[in-house]
Amino acid sequence: MSFHADLELSGRSVLVCGAGAPALAPIRNLLDASASVTVVGAAPVASITDLAGRGQLILVERTVESGDLASASLIVPATGDAKLDSTIVELARRARAPCVIPAETQLPEEPQTGSVILVGGGPGDPGLITLAGLEAVRRADVIVSDRLAPLSILKHAKSSAEIIDVAKIPRGAHTSQDRINAILIEQAHAGRTVVRLKGGDSFVFGRGGEEWQACAEEGVAVTVIPGVTSATAAPALAGIPLTHRQLTQGFTVISGHVPPGHSGSTLDWGALARLHTTLVIMMGVATLPAITAELIKHGMAGDTPAATVADAGMPTQRTVTGSVSDIAERTISARLAPPAITVIGAVAAFRAVGGEGRPHEAASADRGH
Ligand code: SAH
Repeated sequence: MSFHADLELSGRSVLVCGAGAPALAPIRNLLDASASVTVVGAAPVASITDLAGRGQLILVERTVESGDLASASLIVPATGDAKLDSTIVELARRARAPCVIPAETQLPEEPQTGSVILVGGGPGDPGLITLAGLEAVRRADVIVSDRLAPLSILKHAKSSAEIIDVAKIPRGAHTSQDRINAILIEQAHAGRTVVRLKGGDSFVFGRGGEEWQACAEEGVAVTVIPGVTSATAAPALAGIPLTHRQLTQGFTVISGHVPPGHSGSTLDWGALARLHTTLVIMMGVATLPAITAELIKHGMAGDTPAATVADAGMPTQRTVTGSVSDIAERTISARLAPPAITVIGAVAAFRAVGGEGRPHEAASADRGH
């Protein structure tokens, strides 16, 4: 065994495992390279005992123990027994200790590692998942899906794929986020390719960040396939452009899951009322009366156009329009239910395609005014 010239060995503490004849050549090379050599092995050959006697190396006359591996900055398996050398390589790998791999060593298979792919499934229409997202669903061994994900996509999964439904019904029975994280990690550790299929985009109020962190902490590789978020898709499908050169220079997406004044709310409602960008409110059906009242209280004009779009991209898509002062009441009386998005701003009066953007039959009975 010779050592590559680039391997800087001078002064490094190197552990040679084995003190029989096969260890001689590596030991000589190491000493030539001025390494500080410790040899561990029962029944040393005479020339190794001699080198030890002359103080050129330290000899420990016993078989190698796993504890020996921790302190060396390089480990050289040289027992002459390929199986034993392989065991030393494996122990070194577990101890994360640098180890020379003898040519004859049969490397044990790497433990199988799975991975997690966070796939944004789009707003609900199966046509609005990306090609990369669909491909990931096709390849997945396990698909962990939730309620807003486009479930008809699941027919593209392998027949052997396991589907785990962690549907989270608002304010109802649901699988806790900790449990979902644990499922992703368990499945990936079992060597599977796991797709976490979500509605919209995983990183827009999708807890994708939390799932990514939890997986990364457990050493699970995560990739992300962005999705078409309902924040932009729902208005678009209802024919509402979020920006329009003559009307607004931006849009602001907020979560309405807690109302203004709630201890958990971190939004500056006064700033939002004065921003002059289109306001997109997600998870805000229940809190819409409080939110619109707060915006008006902070000076938003009561006749600012507004629209609520429910079930965007699904056959049941419906839109109601009005103004910031009556959109909450109109949303309630039209019995629009989550998932729904409310758009507030001049663009809400501008419905590009004169109704729902998709020619669904149910949607053609649009309740807009
Ligand atoms: N990650 C998702 C959002 C999850 S939060 C995304 O990027 O779209 C859930 C909220 O998203 C719902 O309360 C609703 O406000 C909105 N939403 C999701 N799908 C929707 C749909 N098809 N139509 C209207 N709103 C939708």
